[in-house]
Amino acid sequence: MYDYPLYRPPSESNSLIIQATLGCSHNKCSFCSMYKSKKFSIKSLEEIKNDMNHFRKIYEHVEKIFLADGDALIIPTKDLKEILMYAGKLFPECSRITLYGSPKSILLKTHQELEELKALGLSMIYMGVESGSDEVLKDINKGASSEELLNAAVMVKNANILLSVTVIAGIGGRKNSKIHAVKTGELISNMAPDYLGVLSLMAEEETDLYNKIVKKEFQLLSDKEMLIEIKLLIEHINIEETIVFRCNHASNYVSLRGDLPCDKEAMINQIDYHIEHNKLKYEYDRRL
Ligand code: SF4
Repeated sequence: MYDYPLYRPPSESNSLIIQATLGCSHNKCSFCSMYKSKKFSIKSLEEIKNDMNHFRKIYEHVEKIFLADGDALIIPTKDLKEILMYAGKLFPECSRITLYGSPKSILLKTHQELEELKALGLSMIYMGVESGSDEVLKDINKGASSEELLNAAVMVKNANILLSVTVIAGIGGRKNSKIHAVKTGELISNMAPDYLGVLSLMAEEETDLYNKIVKKEFQLLSDKEMLIEIKLLIEHINIEETIVFRCNHASNYVSLRGDLPCDKEAMINQIDYHIEHNKLKYEYDRRL
């Protein structure tokens, strides 16, 4: 039924995954190997409906649905509306439908289109921000500037769709660690997403970034430098609205979770404790 590899956000672990697209429409980020094996395509409405019919026969109760793969929001609005309508009829018990949306695919939609998708059950969009620094975004070939990322976030929020974003600690390397942390904190403050996940960079083979590391054109951060960067990032998130903050992915050296701004100081203190008491090294020694 699925075309592997298949990815979904950690918070969608109990969701029914409907693979509406294959791969990622961008597929050029220098650090990402997720969809290198796939040529991007959108499945036909018939195939998608057949998949849903198949799952309806298997599962009695479907609470949540995640539309995969990497950028299902790129599906033309007319078709996406039909998918949402069909899902709503077939799984009336489903309380939320979510998907990944690249900044480009969000900006291709109009405000009215996003509102229509919301009305048909699209509850949340996951967007990879990675960094708020334009220099870093260019280096990693994100395909979007910090301004475009912010505009995309504003569009999602204006349509009353929940916004969940991820950023990557260490993605600027040693050279851009500080600017990455500061600019990302500032961008997140302006976006005020509902959820923020901080991952730590894992260098994966078969990526352009890996080749840069091998050629010594990119220096990975040590555990200690990574924590210092995450602390700087949190220090630069200044907002009044609540952001559910998670830094508890398997890639993270220290697990942090809380709400910003109310848990900001406690999380900074937690990072300071680990920097002070753990024998963290300044030399990179575990991710390559
Ligand atoms: S947009 Fe996301 S899935 Fe696509 S290449 Fe970049 S990181 Fe990978």
